[in-house]
Amino acid sequence: MSYGKVLYIDLTKRDFWTEDRSELLRNRIGGTGVALELLKENIDPKCDPLGPGNIIVFAVGLLTGYYPLASKTVAMFKSPLTGNLGESHAGGRSAIAIRMAGYEAIVIKGVSDTPVYLVITNDGVRFRDASTLWGIRSTITVGRIIREVEGGTGIRSIIRIGRAGERLVRYACAVTETYRHFGRLGLGAVLGSKKLKAIVVYGKRNLPVNDVKLYRDVYDEIFKLAVETELMKKYHDIGTAINVKVLYKIGALPIMNLTRTSFKEIDKISGEYIAESRLGRRVACSHCPVACIHLAILREPYVDEPYFYKTTYVSYDYEPIYSIGAMLGVKDTDGLLRLLDLVETLGLDVISTGVALSWATEAYKRGVITERETVTKLDWGYVEGYMKAINFIVEQPNQFYRDLSMGVEYAARKYGGLDYALAFGGNEMPGYNTGPGTYLTYLTGARHSHLDSAGYSLDQKLVGKTLPSPEELIDMLMKEEAWRQVLSSLVICFFARGIYSVERVSSALKALGFNFTEKDLRNLGWEIYREKYKLKIELGFNINELRIPRRIFEIENPHGRISKEYLDRALKYFKKKVKSMISY
Ligand code: SF4
Repeated sequence: MSYGKVLYIDLTKRDFWTEDRSELLRNRIGGTGVALELLKENIDPKCDPLGPGNIIVFAVGLLTGYYPLASKTVAMFKSPLTGNLGESHAGGRSAIAIRMAGYEAIVIKGVSDTPVYLVITNDGVRFRDASTLWGIRSTITVGRIIREVEGGTGIRSIIRIGRAGERLVRYACAVTETYRHFGRLGLGAVLGSKKLKAIVVYGKRNLPVNDVKLYRDVYDEIFKLAVETELMKKYHDIGTAINVKVLYKIGALPIMNLTRTSFKEIDKISGEYIAESRLGRRVACSHCPVACIHLAILREPYVDEPYFYKTTYVSYDYEPIYSIGAMLGVKDTDGLLRLLDLVETLGLDVISTGVALSWATEAYKRGVITERETVTKLDWGYVEGYMKAINFIVEQPNQFYRDLSMGVEYAARKYGGLDYALAFGGNEMPGYNTGPGTYLTYLTGARHSHLDSAGYSLDQKLVGKTLPSPEELIDMLMKEEAWRQVLSSLVICFFARGIYSVERVSSALKALGFNFTEKDLRNLGWEIYREKYKLKIELGFNINELRIPRRIFEIENPHGRISKEYLDRALKYFKKKVKSMISY
C-alpha cells in the first residue's frame, strides 16, 4: 500500500515539493494526529495568526477512501480568533479528493503578494492568478467560476473563501462544495491573510487492500450499521435539525442570547417543519450513505416581476438554526433561510456570527451600545436589521463592526456586556445549554467546541439522575476527548462514532495492513490528546485566563441552575490533570 506522501506548498516562493512521511502516518494514523505533528514541525508558536509565519495543514486519514463515513478533512492552524490552536473539520469531497490526488496531508506556508488560487493534482501544484476572483463576495460564485475554468476529471473539491475571509473577519470560514465548511476558529481569515482565495484538488488513483476478505467483512458491517440504525435514519430523514425540538423540549436550546429557553414560534424553525414545508434536496459527503445534509428551497419574489421567484438552495443544520434562528429570536422560516444564505454567501462561521449578533442585540436593548455603533436597529426577530448587520460585520463600515469582526469576547471587553458575551476560551458558544458537562466541554476542550468531549450528550443522558462529582465528570470528559483523537485522526464523521467502536476500528485498520490492538488505539488517543494540549499552550493558551460568562449561572438548564462551586471544583481538578498529563 502506498501512503504517507505530504505535499508542501510555499506561497511566498511559489514552490512545492513532496516528502515521504509514511512513518508519521503509520504512527499517527492521519487527520488530527498527523496535522498536529506537521503544525509543530513547521510553525513558529509566537507567530501572528494573520502573518506569514502561520501555516495551514490539511490532513486525511488511513481509512479515507476505504470505509464509509471516513470523510472529513482536518485543518490545523493558529487561530486568529482565540490566538492559539485552530482545528476545524469539513466533509464534502475534500478528504477523498486529497487522497485520490496522492497525498495524505498538505502543508501551506508563507504568503502570496497577489491573490492566488491553487490547483492540486497527482502531478503537483499550479499557482493561478486570482486577481479577478478577489473581491467577489460570494463563496458560491467563486466555486462556480472555478468549476467552469478548471474543469478536470476525478473526484474534485473546491475549498474557498468569501468576502469575510478577505476582510479578515476572525471567524470567517472556508467553504467546501458549497454546503460544507471548515467553520470554526477562523480558517477563512488565515486563508485571506495569505491571499489564497481557493484550493482546487482533484485526482485519480487506486487504493490497494491488504486483506480483501477481512476488508469486505468489515466494510459490509459498517455500511449496514450506517444505513440501518435509527439515529442515522433520523439524520437522513430530518437531518441534525431534528435536535431543535429535542433540545427545546428539555429546556436546553439557548434562545435570545440565552436570556430564555421558551419560544412561542419554535415550530417555525424546527427541523420537522422545515423538512415538511421547504426540503428540496438531501446531499452527502463523499463515501457516506447517510446523506444528512439538508437543503431547503428559498423562494424570493423579484421586485418588478410578480410571477417570478429567485429560487435558492439553503443548507441548514441544528447549529445554524440555533445560532441564527433561536439566538436571534427569528420567528419566520423564510427569514431564517435568508439569513443563513447570506452567512453562507459571505463565508462566515454561522455559530460565531449568531452569537456575536445576539450579544450585540442584548447590548443594544440595554443601551450599552446605540444605533451610532450598530448603524441599524437590532431587535429579536428583526430579520432586516440582521441582514444589514451581517453585511456590516464583513464590510466593517465603522469601528464597532471592526471590533465585532474580532469576535464577541473582544467586542464585549471594549464596549461592556461581558457577563452575557457567550464565548468560552474566546470561541463563541455552540447550541447546548444542557448542564455542567456541556459548559465544561466548552471550557476545557482543545477547540472549545461541543464536539471535543461531548458534554452535551453526557448531560442529556444524565437528565433525571444524580450528577457525578465534578472530578468524575472531568474524568469522563477527558476520556471521551482522548478517544475522539483517534476518530478525528481517522477523520471519521462523529455521527458515526457509535459505529466505529474501538474493536471495529482495530479490524478496519487490520484489513489495510495496520496492526493496532484496542489498547494501542486507546493509548494513541491519549498521546495525541496530550500533544495537542501541549501545543495549544505553546501557541498561547493560558488555562488560568478562562472566563465563565455569568449568564450561564442565571438561566435554568435540564439539571436546574449551574453551580459555580461545581464548575470551579471541576476546573481546578482539570488544571491538575492537564499539568500532570503534559509533563508526563
Ligand atoms: S453523516 Fe452527514 S456530515 Fe457525516 S459524513 Fe455523512 S453526510 Fe457528511
